[in-house]
Amino acid sequence: MTTAQVIDHTQRDPWEIAVTQFDNAADAIHLDPNMRVILRECQRELVVHFPVRMQDGTVRVFTGYRVQHNVSRGPGKGGIRYHPAATLGEVKALAMWMTWKCAVVGIPYGGAKGAVVCDPKQMTLQQLETMTRRYATEIMVLIGPERDIPAPDVNTNSQTMAWIMDTYSMHHGYTAPAVVTGKPISIGGSEGRNEATARGAVFTIIEAAKHLSLDLEGARVVIQGFGNAGWFSAKLMHELGATVIGLSDTQGGIFSKKGLDPNRVEAYKRETGSVVGFAGTDRVSNRELLELDCDILIPAAIENQIDATNAPKIKARLIAEAANGPTSPEADRILRDRGIFNIPDILCNAGGVTVSYFEWVQDLQNLFWRENTINARLKEIMVKSFGDVLETSLKHKVDMRLAAYMLAVGRVAEATLTRGIYP
Ligand code: NAD
Repeated sequence: MTTAQVIDHTQRDPWEIAVTQFDNAADAIHLDPNMRVILRECQRELVVHFPVRMQDGTVRVFTGYRVQHNVSRGPGKGGIRYHPAATLGEVKALAMWMTWKCAVVGIPYGGAKGAVVCDPKQMTLQQLETMTRRYATEIMVLIGPERDIPAPDVNTNSQTMAWIMDTYSMHHGYTAPAVVTGKPISIGGSEGRNEATARGAVFTIIEAAKHLSLDLEGARVVIQGFGNAGWFSAKLMHELGATVIGLSDTQGGIFSKKGLDPNRVEAYKRETGSVVGFAGTDRVSNRELLELDCDILIPAAIENQIDATNAPKIKARLIAEAANGPTSPEADRILRDRGIFNIPDILCNAGGVTVSYFEWVQDLQNLFWRENTINARLKEIMVKSFGDVLETSLKHKVDMRLAAYMLAVGRVAEATLTRGIYP
């Protein structure tokens, strides 16, 4: 698959989608108009342009963002992504989604997000470290353990978080592990954080399967994206006895009717850089992948993958949004009318931020928990949150996304109202 065939997620401004989703929820809960104007905007939007000396001696200026949508319920929380197509609109949408996500699972954070416009695949490790450290310095006016706590997202990982933590600590003159989450264990990271997003998503899939009377044993699963969220989702679904029949990354997708062993595909991707070409598979495009005949579809790549053009062709019974913002509001309507059950992103992928919260709590207390404790607490939160959203959905006869938004927006509005408008 050529780059041109990769679905262009910049086609529709994610911010426009985020605001539409918020408006739908605000209408459904008859939100006070004064509260609506507050929650419809982001509280802080920082744009930075910073120079980095490249290895050939030239200087390149990078653009980065850090946005806080609402911090009424606690400090800002949200990942940092490195992507050539990152925009302020995308980061604002992701920050708003973080506000709702933290509220829907009841953890005491507000929503934030960051990005640097860059193509990390074209950069050396040294350039990435220098760029990360300078970006961390630029956004230091906003971040801090009590203020705003970044985490990994697309194209960033535990090493990126280690550089940010170290840079922050150097500036402050003491080690501040709680400034980021998703760190390596050796510097205050948490057991279970790497798999947390996927593990949380799988807990919600198990609950949805019970509700739909869908047997997970042998259920056919298709996953778009094979990074942190996608790869661990594939591994955990495989361990549950489901059959992973389709996988993809930016290079394209692979399909095998009889099923794939995600561990072997991961080893192959580590060696070759892509899932494409894995032995015994047919090649499919990312678009064809989403339309494969399957029981469960897990978008785990980027935004705007399911829209009005492909929603009518999706064959899955259950969609579990491990990615943020994969489905447009028009597609939501089509999927709902077709009776496809969707576990929305702000619920489905909240396991990542939940274990990030556990990591932050452990760092602040200097007391670390065992992995089985982490996973048990994660399960408790995900199962309860899924139950709350399902109950709201059944009670108000709305789809799961609107139900999750109704709960989340209601909780954030209550906190914002209780605190009052300063001054
Ligand atoms: P990642 O960088 O580890 O992996 C992203 C994967 O998606 C890669 O395999 C990449 O090749 C693939 N991809 C990118 N663009 C694609 C496209 N156009 N078509 C098909 N595949 C494409 O990122 P991640 O952390 O796994 O994040 C994936 C999604 O999950 C994002 O939407 C992110 O916001 C969301 N998410 C991640 C976390 C987390 O803890 N990592 C938490 C919550 C939500």
